[in-house]
Amino acid sequence: MKKIAFYGKGGIGKSTTASNVSAALSLLGKKVCQIGCDPKNDSTRLLLGHICKETVLDKVRTKEIDEIEVGDVVHQGFNGTICVEAGGPEPGVGCAGRGIIVALQLLDRLHAVTDVDLTLYDVLGDVVCGGFAMPIREGYATDIYVVSSGELMSLYAANNIAKGIRRFAVRGNVRLAGIIGNSRNTPGEKELLLEFASKLNTHLIAFVPRNKIVNIAENQKQTVLQYAPDSDQAKVYFKLAEDIWNNENLTVPTPIAFEELEKLVEDYGTEN
Ligand code: ADP
Ligand code: MG
Repeated sequence: MKKIAFYGKGGIGKSTTASNVSAALSLLGKKVCQIGCDPKNDSTRLLLGHICKETVLDKVRTKEIDEIEVGDVVHQGFNGTICVEAGGPEPGVGCAGRGIIVALQLLDRLHAVTDVDLTLYDVLGDVVCGGFAMPIREGYATDIYVVSSGELMSLYAANNIAKGIRRFAVRGNVRLAGIIGNSRNTPGEKELLLEFASKLNTHLIAFVPRNKIVNIAENQKQTVLQYAPDSDQAKVYFKLAEDIWNNENLTVPTPIAFEELEKLVEDYGTEN
């Protein structure tokens, strides 16, 4: 079974890309489970067709732990995809990272995710605190993809995630599996991402164009794979799903200094 994770800055497009990849993999005949590890709870919204109202942490709050059943926390999404949301604390109370730990441990105890070809953890990567590092640190996910645009702060988060992977790669089998470029149409973006990936000792596995079909599909609570299966954007997600499935380019990353990151953006991000 493949165990992968998508990390990246909040709002960069992790959940959208993850859901489209999960949908594509399911259409390619794979059994996929997507686990949202972000207190926003919206990772699986496009697969489910609605926001998940039964997160793992909701159940922990409302039921005795021994009474929680697999069906309480595991939901069926598009084309047989399995959807789970870890959930988060009430705003202003408790620690979101700690919540991820509790949720993943409970899923283990329940043997909630079995008989799948691929599990995809969709993880908020602004803060690589203990909780959000859990999928990397405890070997839940081994192949880590970082979603980034050409914007400095998104690259900054990507570089930080690479630092976390490097730390845990020393004693485990966690590896950086590639950068997924999700375009914000910044100047020189693809070339910048290619160079950034190469400096981090990895590859740019995809450069996903910014396209309003993604937003239109999202407004209908659907992935592009459902809403516009014959579109060019759907083809991009299909190709990415295949490339992820076949990817053997797994490396120990070599993160760079912030000044080097700034220089990259300065050099590539010009008008022409
Ligand atoms: P994250 O999970 O990283 O917080 P989301 O996947 O929720 O981010 O995406 C944030 C917003 O960006 C969403 O409204 C989504 O529709 C939009 N978006 C993501 N990728 C694209 C894209 N390639 N083209 C257009 N809009 C996109
Ligand atoms: Mg998300």
